[in-house]
Formats: sequence, structure tokens, C-alpha cells
Amino acid sequence: MSRTTPPRPLDVLEVFPELREHSATATRLHPRPGAPAVSDSSVGGPLLWPAGEPWPVCDDGPEHYVHRLLTPATVWRRRAIYAVARTRQPYAVTDEERAQLPGPDFSEPRSLIAQPIPYVPVAQLFRRDVADFAGPDDADVLQVLWCPLDHEDEGCNPRVRLFWRRSADVGPVLETPPTPPVVSDSYLPTPCVVHPEQVRECQYADLLPADLGERIAGWELDYDDDFSLAPGWKVGGFANWSLTDPHPVECADCGTAMTLLLTVDSAEWYGSDCSWRPVEEPVTASSGPTDVEIGRSYALYVFRCPVSFDHPSATAMQ
Ligand SMILES: [Zn+2]
Ligand SMILES: [Zn+2]
Repeated sequence: MSRTTPPRPLDVLEVFPELREHSATATRLHPRPGAPAVSDSSVGGPLLWPAGEPWPVCDDGPEHYVHRLLTPATVWRRRAIYAVARTRQPYAVTDEERAQLPGPDFSEPRSLIAQPIPYVPVAQLFRRDVADFAGPDDADVLQVLWCPLDHEDEGCNPRVRLFWRRSADVGPVLETPPTPPVVSDSYLPTPCVVHPEQVRECQYADLLPADLGERIAGWELDYDDDFSLAPGWKVGGFANWSLTDPHPVECADCGTAMTLLLTVDSAEWYGSDCSWRPVEEPVTASSGPTDVEIGRSYALYVFRCPVSFDHPSATAMQ
């Protein structure tokens, strides 16, 4: 089933034609739990990873900021138990199931992070599926991985790495990638298939020219909620700076202002009256299909340097 963003209440570019030069396309990924294959675009799915290429690991060891550590097996078991509980009327977890759940204060020992921590798949995006795909000319797939623990030097977020590839060059695929001994459970995405849909976004209000921003602020309709930025996982478009106010993101190598590549969001829509909830989905549908949570329901924005895909990426939490 495809996913369709409801039409905007009106065409904002007709009301404010100057907005056109501050608008851009974005591709909403609409991730939903499923069983993606290595040859599919996915969130949290298996990667088309060459068997002979080392899998990335994080050596930060004790420098990780540790809140609560769980094994991936525990995280999967817990999600499975809650998924079954949600199918019961009324919602219920049995005593037997509860006995399998980690207590609220339980954490695996900190010593487990002294070893190298394998990264986990966050997204695999094929150029053919994602209208706003960006990558080197010869690349047709982007793979996004992160270390599933908090890093103080990343603003207490996971550390992201990007890999662009030409899928025809991959050859034999790594069958069983290593998995981390422990994770922060909000950084282990539930495997999802994606339903890409291109939408148009308009720049975050505070980044518009002052006179235009003022006229929009005085408009009777709600620019921020209904016309500016799509919530949820997306490729391209603009970042929402509502947590800290806008700050420049510049390439660590060359100083160029960076471009938003990917948004990892804690929810696909916020609130039952959100105008961006796909028309196919009832108000009771889960708005958190990936089980990823960034901070307290924020988003992680992954930026790329427009000068070179070889320059390092950067992230911001908002
Ligand atoms: Zn790490
Ligand atoms: Zn650069």
C-alpha cells in the first residue's frame, strides 16, 4: 500500500509567490514494519554490503555516554511482547510475558562497551526509489549506519556514517553482519519497508527573509504546521530548528554551508490532528513505526557537503 500526504489546505506558493525560491522537494520515506531484502530500500533492513569489506565498528569504548544498555535480543523480545499486547482487547501484558521484560532499572554491564561496537543499519536508499536521492554520479545506493550508543561529542546522539555504492560492484553480499553486544534501544530501528513519496517543502520560517517571514507570521493560516516542513523520515527538504533556533552547519573540511541529506525522526506525525498523516492511515495507526527515538521525541538531521560527497557528514538534533 502506498502512502499519500493529504493535499495542503491551499497552494501556499500562490499566496506568497516569493516562497518559491525558498522551497524544495523532499522525499518522505514512510517507513513501515516489514521484511525488506538486501536489494530493497529500507529503514533498519539488511544492507547490500560486500562480503569482503570490513563492517564499521566504533571504538569509543568508555567514552560513550551510557544511560541504559540492552542486548539487541532483549530489545526485539520486548517489542514482540508489546506488539502482541497491543492486539489484545483491552491491551494487556500477561504475567508470563512480564517476567521476560527487563525491569525499568535494568542495564547490561557497562564493561560490554569496552569492545568495538558494530554499527547497525539505519537506512538503505536506492536512487531508483528516492526522487531526492543525492550521491556521486556513479552511485545508485546510499547506506546509512550508526553506532547505537550515545556520543557526547555528537550531542549525545548516535554517530552516523554514510556509504555510497554502485550496487553492480558489490559482488557477494555479507550474509551475517556483526551485531552490537548492547545498544540503546531507541537506536535500534525495527526493520521497515519504505513507501517513498515526493512532497514540496518551504523553508523553516525563521530562515526566510525577514519581510516575508513577518507577512507569513501575520497570515491567518498555520504556516509552520501545514505548509512548511513534513514530519517523519525523509530525504532532502529542510530542517526544523524549533529546539535551538537555526544555527549554521558547515563542512568540517571546507567550511561550505551543508545541505540536508536525511532526516531521522522520532515520529511520522505529531498529534492526532496533524495534517501530514497519510490518507491511507487511520488516526489510531502507530506514528512511531521505526521505534527510533531521538532525544525526547526530536529528529536527527544528517547533512552533507555540497562540494564533495567525500567530505564528512554532520548531524544536528532538533
Ligand atoms: Zn560509538
Ligand atoms: Zn566540504
